[in-house]
Amino acid sequence: MVSVNATPDAPIAELAAAWEEIRTEYYADHDTDLVLAAARALAADPGGERAWLWTLGLLMTADYVSLQTASDGTAAAVLDALRATDRALRAGPCGHAAHPYEEELEFQLDGLAGYLPMLDDAAAAAANPERDLWDPPEVWRCPRNVAGYARVAIDILAPGTTDGIPARLSTAEQEEVQDLASVLHGYPAPGVSVTWTLSHYGKALAGATGDAERAGLVVIVTALSWYAATCTLAYPGPLDDLTAGLASVPVPRGRPDCGHGAAGHPVLPTVPEDVLTAGMCLRSPHARQLLAEHGGRSGAGLPLENWLCPVFVAGLAREALLRVRVAREQQFGPRRADR
Ligand SMILES: [Zn+2]
Ligand SMILES: [Zn+2]
Repeated sequence: MVSVNATPDAPIAELAAAWEEIRTEYYADHDTDLVLAAARALAADPGGERAWLWTLGLLMTADYVSLQTASDGTAAAVLDALRATDRALRAGPCGHAAHPYEEELEFQLDGLAGYLPMLDDAAAAAANPERDLWDPPEVWRCPRNVAGYARVAIDILAPGTTDGIPARLSTAEQEEVQDLASVLHGYPAPGVSVTWTLSHYGKALAGATGDAERAGLVVIVTALSWYAATCTLAYPGPLDDLTAGLASVPVPRGRPDCGHGAAGHPVLPTVPEDVLTAGMCLRSPHARQLLAEHGGRSGAGLPLENWLCPVFVAGLAREALLRVRVAREQQFGPRRADR
């Protein structure tokens, strides 16, 4: 624990250190007084001179607050303050072409605790050896940037309830990608079970309802099928669950000519994190747009529609199904009534 009595009038460096501890240890227990104090200070003057400070503090602690199930009203108070700030500052005076809130959030958050004190100290900002990496303080404190970060924080706390911010996978979705990637790399993260993971995604695919959810799960299960082809399991259940999920994917009837042509379908990335991120984006209503923006990472750079193409999805599922069936046969012999 950072031993700091971080009240709203504490030096910014102390507030930043306390918020950073909550940000990086968001799964641990913390005193929510510090978060509530920032929310109260912001609500008292949502468009005020220090709105940038409280907004960034609430942004840094948003993941932690989003995980709180306590009915102490913290999340509601934080959301009210952030929404008031968005209303007050969204159309504020600005002469900038771009703002930090439009950039990748994770990168900005990783260094924000160190940069925060410089936002109020022009001399320190000018002497910052990393100043080329960071937008100048006046751009960070610009009303439109503060309103933008208020919306980013709102989106963490109440996904899908605001607009005008970059698409992003939620923290939970990003963690899911990391857990899955740890399986694919052969070093499951603590608490991650390989057999549970294989079964879970096989069953999720079998129960998929929407086309985008199904397409995303087929991409994820395809990545898992690469792993299933090389791993050794104690019993066949997880492979059977993958098989059932893949076999449930509808096969287009008739001549399967979608008109996309030979180069019109995505080529899946081979880096586990990239292919899993692509699948997670497809599944996520809030991050789907990200796939179109970053499609280039797959080497295809194709629109979302091509990722959702039933011929493409069915083709992936068929290849993965074959891979899982072969793996099952090699490890456990042929099934008597093969599906
Ligand atoms: Zn601006
Ligand atoms: Zn197609």
